[in-house]
Amino acid sequence: MPTIAFIGLGNMGAPMAANLVKSGHRVVGYDVNAAAVQALASAGVQAAESAAEAVRGADVVVTMLPAGEHVREVWLHQGGLIDAVKGATPLLIDCSTIDVESARVVTEAACFAGFEMLDAPVSGGVGGATAATLTFMVGGSEAAFARGLPVLQAMGKNIVHAGGPGAGQAAKICNNMMLSINMVGVSEGFLLARKLGLDWDKLFQIASTSSGQSWALSNYCPAPGPVPAAPSNRDYAAGFMAALMLKDVKLSQAAADAVGSPTPLAAHAMSFYQAVVDAGDGGKDFSVVFRLLEKMTRTR
Ligand code: NAD
Repeated sequence: MPTIAFIGLGNMGAPMAANLVKSGHRVVGYDVNAAAVQALASAGVQAAESAAEAVRGADVVVTMLPAGEHVREVWLHQGGLIDAVKGATPLLIDCSTIDVESARVVTEAACFAGFEMLDAPVSGGVGGATAATLTFMVGGSEAAFARGLPVLQAMGKNIVHAGGPGAGQAAKICNNMMLSINMVGVSEGFLLARKLGLDWDKLFQIASTSSGQSWALSNYCPAPGPVPAAPSNRDYAAGFMAALMLKDVKLSQAAADAVGSPTPLAAHAMSFYQAVVDAGDGGKDFSVVFRLLEKMTRTR
């Protein structure tokens, strides 16, 4: 079984690394937050003192970091991962959701140094990461995809080769842009239902088996009650943080601007997530947008 270095052991990275151990891999982990590394000892993830130490002797290097700036920093800065893995031939995989430009720059640097690299962002949230049922959207060569597939299969269920380098990030940005709009739509539906005197459980029962069905409704229903495991039932504890959703919608808007694609609803949805973050709720689950809309409800 390959040895895997895993950098970035946060909400997503921690359960993903734990699943790699469960599938029989030796996993060496590093995070700037020492507590995150220590918390994984009981799951069998070996602690490293630095990213460079974690990748020593690794067959595969996986990163799961917040944003493009962190990915550039970890991979490209002096003594960064691309320097640290020189002399070996590990497969490099970045699972973070980042801007297409950062993904391109890091992949080009990896290629230039003679490494194969995949951009492999995920969908499915912390629940999917824990249950090893994530969807991976993968960009890179056929050969790199074939090499990475068994590793990704230990963390996910649906592994799609989206195309060449950067295609995984492009797919992820489009997916999350749709989700961001969808969550606002589900929130508006439940708020209107309440005003119309409709029971939320009844609306859920009907919409979740009708044409209003969506992932946002069925898994992360923003109105408390109908979906017991949803963040709305634990004061919107993340889950997928509103600040990260705002980041993703911004990425989609930058990409849409660059290519001249119309995204008026996403632009509007983005303003709601911005308001959520401005109100200090960026650390809450993105379904907390429901509470923002609820505050806009008129009494008559
Ligand atoms: P997180 O903030 O919980 O975890 C990121 C981890 O990276 C943190 O533990 C942080 O300490 C660590 N880190 C930051 N800089 C570092 C560095 N220089 N070296 C080592 N470690 C460093 O975020 P998350 O929720 O795990 O999300 C990670 C990525 O996955 C993001 O790009 C996010 O958009 C994406 N994503 C998240 C979800 C979700 O539901 N949380 C779903 C799909 C995709």
